[in-house]
Amino acid sequence: MREIRTTCAYCGVGCGIRAEVTGREVAIKGDAEHPANAGKLCSKGTHLGETVSLEGRLLYPEAGGKRVSWDKAIDRVAKRFTDTIARHGPDSVAFYVSGQLLTEDYYVANKLMKGFIGSGNIDTNSRLCMSSAVAGHIRAFGEDVVPATYADFDEADLIVLVGSNTAWCHPIVYQRIMAARASRGTKIVVIDPRRTETCEDADLHLPLRPGSDVALMNGLLAHCRDKGLLDAGYLEDCVNTPDGFWDALGEGSDLWSTAAACDLPPADLLAFYELFAANPRTITLFSQGINQSVRGTDQVNAILNLHLATGRIGKPGAAPFSITGQPNAMGGREVGGLASTLAAHMDFAPENVETVRRFWAAPRMASKPGLKAVDLFRQVREGRVKAIWIMATNPAVSLPDAGLVREALATCPFVVVSDCIADTDTARFAHVKLPAAGWGEKDGTVTNSERLISRQRALFPLAGEAKPDWWIMTQVAQAMGWTEHFAYDCPADIYREHARLSTYQNGGKRLFDIGYHAAISNPAYDAMEPFRWGGVPFADGRFSTPDGKARLVPVEQMVLEKPLAKFPMTLNTGRYRDQWHTMTRTGLSPKLSQHRREPLVEIHPADADERGIAADDLVQVSTPAGDSVFRALLSEGQRRGEVFTPIHWTDRQSTGGRTGLLPRSLVDPVSGQPGFKSTPARLEKL
Ligand code: SF4
Repeated sequence: MREIRTTCAYCGVGCGIRAEVTGREVAIKGDAEHPANAGKLCSKGTHLGETVSLEGRLLYPEAGGKRVSWDKAIDRVAKRFTDTIARHGPDSVAFYVSGQLLTEDYYVANKLMKGFIGSGNIDTNSRLCMSSAVAGHIRAFGEDVVPATYADFDEADLIVLVGSNTAWCHPIVYQRIMAARASRGTKIVVIDPRRTETCEDADLHLPLRPGSDVALMNGLLAHCRDKGLLDAGYLEDCVNTPDGFWDALGEGSDLWSTAAACDLPPADLLAFYELFAANPRTITLFSQGINQSVRGTDQVNAILNLHLATGRIGKPGAAPFSITGQPNAMGGREVGGLASTLAAHMDFAPENVETVRRFWAAPRMASKPGLKAVDLFRQVREGRVKAIWIMATNPAVSLPDAGLVREALATCPFVVVSDCIADTDTARFAHVKLPAAGWGEKDGTVTNSERLISRQRALFPLAGEAKPDWWIMTQVAQAMGWTEHFAYDCPADIYREHARLSTYQNGGKRLFDIGYHAAISNPAYDAMEPFRWGGVPFADGRFSTPDGKARLVPVEQMVLEKPLAKFPMTLNTGRYRDQWHTMTRTGLSPKLSQHRREPLVEIHPADADERGIAADDLVQVSTPAGDSVFRALLSEGQRRGEVFTPIHWTDRQSTGGRTGLLPRSLVDPVSGQPGFKSTPARLEKL
């Protein structure tokens, strides 16, 4: 038996694990020395050992449905991409990658597409998760930085959870919040249209009208101004306030108007305002309820405005905190894995493009952002993108309007899928399938929601002919002619280059700088302990903008869509406690399947009654994008007129319960993040 320290495969909490490995069996326990979890694990992490079998694994390369050698597969991918680029230009190809990739994998993918193929067309499923937070951070701070750590929960007097079922989706963070509540009486406010499990221990739950978050935050900001709660000195020294900002806030931000806009009792709203006023040590944690909206970036900035204007940032227990969904969404952000960013937290400003071009000695440097996820698949369907490589993700299920994604993939001339699972909904469209290492075989680094970089270490030998994602991309890059630029022998080679780039001509402008690891030895990389970059961001009141000041961003509450006659209800979507994404891994665990055995549509009893629907009835949920069948769960926690379905089930597990078919492909105009939380819907009892 060997004990290996690694990190959990699932959420952005980034828990450390001690894995006791015997052959291909593994016993999992929490790593008491890991700062993110101090030995605790939730149900998903605890049962990881049930998910590492070879059942369903993709074990060898396939082309045209037949087993082929790695040489043949690499040759085919390289030739097809090279030919497509030669005939139609670099923007005719694309990569769609994943927060499941390790930072080293992500780095190579980004370098290959942006520096050598010469297109910005690499986007990631993190676009669906937190790209609104990225855009909001950049607008306010000048850099995508989460300015808080989990330790801030221990020092906060008020924690506001907005659009987050933290108890289910980030359980170890939730336990830490509950510990703060027990030890120092920290007040908890939950702002969420649904009464979720997270509300059970809250002092106050505000079940606001979906999409009215900007009205609520602007109302609170106006209240702070009117009650003299702004930090005038901080605003003067550290924040740029655009002309007219406060005047624009005036209209419709009084208590009564805000309560009406948010459909909340004024007394509850006032109770929240008073809690905020009384507790300067405030953390506002936000997640998909904020990000996954067609006004997600404005909603993020409404929260950041509040913290900047009241000086609740850069101090212990006081900060806005975007918590990420995936294990390495943050690592992807660091290497520039989004189509809208470049590398090392840089954007596409001409001087940054030149810096990265020089560093990579790139022959064909992308000079502008590429296609964001939803637009990318639209362009595939329209025939403009003619070759796509999808890595470690399942867009045929997870993107909005998944029916459109399937049409796109069915007509795309060349689809490559690299994954550890053989038969995903997306892999069914692949012309070439490449077997990738799974969790337990990968070796590299991940970054969690609090900027903590941890090692993920291999527990087992690679299964079958599977290879690490970085190796697969390196081979293709070399076959396309870029041999010396992709001459990596191990993940540490890539990590060192990533660290060098983070400090290259940074000049102290950005907080993301891990240049101290630019020459880390292989043994030191292997033994690396978790560490956090960025220190205590903005503690000195200086931000990553040209003048060093943060920015208040004027944001207005959008006009909310009126219910449609044909679709009078509103569909919200989200996760279950014990499942992960499209269940390719958690679906293998019998214990995890016991929590919720099938996908349910949660309906308020009065809405169900009006439609003659009883508990456990089969119900068809229809939206303008599609329809699917769910079993009914009657829940007083739903607002009237709103229903909720889980995101996890796919064609592989069930003919119904297909939430991916239901949301429209409408996106936030700044971030490109889809609005999964608010889709017009209709219910019919079957
Ligand atoms: Fe894994 Fe997240 Fe659970 Fe921690 S909280 S064990 S990272 S799923």
